[in-house]
Amino acid sequence: MLLCIVGAQLRDNHATAVYSRPMFGFELVGRCGRARAGLLRTPHGRVETPAFMPVGTQAGVKALTQRDLRETGAQMVLANTYHLMLRPGEELVAELGGLHGFTGWSGPFLTDSGGYQVFSLAPLRRITEQGVHFQSHIDGAAHLLGPERSIAVQEKLGADIMMAFDECPPYPAPHEAVAEATQRTTRWARRSRDAQRRGDQWLFGIVQGGVFADLRETSAVELTAMDFPGYAIGGLSVGEPKPDMRRVIGQLDALLPEKRSRYLMGVGTPLDILEGVARGVDLFDCVLPTRNARNGQLFTSEGRLSIRNARYRRDPRPPDPACGCYTCRTASRAYLRHLHMAGEMAAATLLTIHNLTHYLDTLKQVRQAILLGRFEDFRRLAHRKLRADDPGPTSLVPDE
Ligand SMILES: [Zn+2]
Repeated sequence: MLLCIVGAQLRDNHATAVYSRPMFGFELVGRCGRARAGLLRTPHGRVETPAFMPVGTQAGVKALTQRDLRETGAQMVLANTYHLMLRPGEELVAELGGLHGFTGWSGPFLTDSGGYQVFSLAPLRRITEQGVHFQSHIDGAAHLLGPERSIAVQEKLGADIMMAFDECPPYPAPHEAVAEATQRTTRWARRSRDAQRRGDQWLFGIVQGGVFADLRETSAVELTAMDFPGYAIGGLSVGEPKPDMRRVIGQLDALLPEKRSRYLMGVGTPLDILEGVARGVDLFDCVLPTRNARNGQLFTSEGRLSIRNARYRRDPRPPDPACGCYTCRTASRAYLRHLHMAGEMAAATLLTIHNLTHYLDTLKQVRQAILLGRFEDFRRLAHRKLRADDPGPTSLVPDE
C-alpha cells in the first residue's frame, strides 16, 4: 500500500524544520511512497526538489550563456573544484567575487570536492593519507589535493554547498580495495569538516562503498554520525550494472537521515533519475544532457533522438512537440540536423537548451506528481515510454 502525504499532514507527522542555520534549510513538503518533494533554501535562492543540477564544469555550462541557462529553468548549478583550481585558479575567482561574482549566475551553486576528477583525469597520481599527489592534465604541474586543500579551494570559490573530499574507487574493484577507500573517505570527511572556516556554506558528506552492502552501511553510519546537513551518494554510475546501482540507492534510503537532503552524484539517464527519486533522492547532476547534446543526441518525451539520422533531413517538426523550450519553439529537426552536420556552434547551443529544459521540466513534473500523490502513475508511464531507450550500465568519464 502506497502512502502519499503532503503539506500540513506531513508537517504534523514529521518536524518540518529539519536542519537549519541562518540562510539554509531543507524541509520535506510532500512524500509519495519513498519519493520526496522538498525545499532547499540557500543564501542564493531556493531549490525545489527533486532537482537536477546542470553541470558547469569550468564555471560555465558548455555551449550556454547564463541567459540560456536561466531560461531552461535551472535552479542550482554544479561547478568543479579540480578544474577551477587548475584554471583560472581559486584566488582569481575569489578576487572577482567568488563563483557568483565571477560568472554572473545569481542562483545557488554546488561545488564537488575534486576527488572524482583527480582520480579519473589526472595522470601520474599517488594516493597517500594526506591526499592525492597528481600532475595537472593542463600543464603537468605537481599538486596535492586533500581534504584541507579541497575545502580551502571550495571556500574561495564560494558555492552555497560544498562536498567533502572523498576517494571514489573504480568499478570493478575487489572488496578489500573498496573497503580501504571507504575508510579513507570517512577519515577525509572528518578532516574536511574540521577544515571548514566559513559559516555561510553547507558541507555535504559523501557515502562510498561501491556495490558492497556492508561497506555502504559502514560508510553511511560513520558519516551520519558526523551530522552533515546533507549526504551525497558517490561511487555510482561508474560502470556497475543498473540493478546494483538501484539496490545501493534503496539500501541508503533506509540508512540516511530522513530529514537531510540526499544527492546522487553523476546519475544519469531520465529513468535512472526517476528510479533515484523513487528511492528517496532529492538532488541529481549528470553530464548526459549537455554532453549528448554536443554529440547530436536529444532526450525527448518519447525517448532519445539522434539528429544525425538521415530520416530527419526533411523533417519540419520540432525536436519534441511536447516541449516548450526556445529550440522547440523555433527550430525544425531538419535545421538542427543541418547545423549539427555542418559543425555550426549554434547546434550545440540549441540542442543543449532543449536537453536541459527536458531534464528540468521532467523533474518539475515528477515533483508535481509527488505532491498530487500520483508519482507511481508517472513512474509507470515513463517506464512504458522509455524502457527500450535506457541501455545497460552507464560509465561516464568526466568533462575535460
Ligand atoms: Zn525543447
